[in-house]
Amino acid sequence: MVKENILKFKNLLPQHVNLVAVSKTQPAIAVSEAYQTGHRVFGENKVQELVAKYNELPKDIQWHLIGHLQTNKVKYIAPFISLIHSVDSLKLLQEINKQAAKNNRVIDCLLQLYIANEETKFGLSYEEADLLLSSEEFKQLKNIRIVGLMGMATNTTNAAQIRNEFHSLKNFFNMIRSLNLTRGTENVELKILSMGMSSDYQIAIEEGSNMIRVGSIIFGERNYAN
Ligand SMILES: *Cc1c(COP(=O)(O)O)cnc(C)c1O
Repeated sequence: MVKENILKFKNLLPQHVNLVAVSKTQPAIAVSEAYQTGHRVFGENKVQELVAKYNELPKDIQWHLIGHLQTNKVKYIAPFISLIHSVDSLKLLQEINKQAAKNNRVIDCLLQLYIANEETKFGLSYEEADLLLSSEEFKQLKNIRIVGLMGMATNTTNAAQIRNEFHSLKNFFNMIRSLNLTRGTENVELKILSMGMSSDYQIAIEEGSNMIRVGSIIFGERNYAN
């Protein structure tokens, strides 16, 4: 089923939209099935599960971390992580930079913006993100690269609200991208706008997303809440 699902789903996507197949809570065998179709980009939201799957599965998989990251866990993923979607503080970014340097690499990151009308979601406000990107401390970080933004819309059936939230993130993305062309720090290259999951990816794409994070449509419903 996973093979058919992912092939069918990828066929529907516009060329410019990249798919992160979200495999959290799914067994490695399910990732393997998707891998056999040629898909290489997978997302996990917990460090422990991510590391376990990294060890078990082929090494040419590009692993993305999409869930909240604690500073004390950065070291476990620094050797191999391909993209971290969930950067929400300068302190976390400094730790990623330190661990990336230890591993002799530059780690690509997205800033997670808080766009939902909910208490539970992580992320920076637009103002905080702007302050972070223009701070002197940030400019010192040579082993990270901010390649875009990520946001999660409110979990609601109100499509207009979801559209509004994605729309505002796209506007902010455009704004800081043009700002950055003029103030130009070397560790920023804004190209990825990660928004949209199984329930709202269509709206997200209409509002300018070029990276969607989709789990249930590909792997089926998860067994436990995550
Ligand atoms: C679980 C998760 C997804 C995917 O959710 P689905 O509804 O299964 O598509 C996307 N983004 C984040 C941050 C997640 O935690």
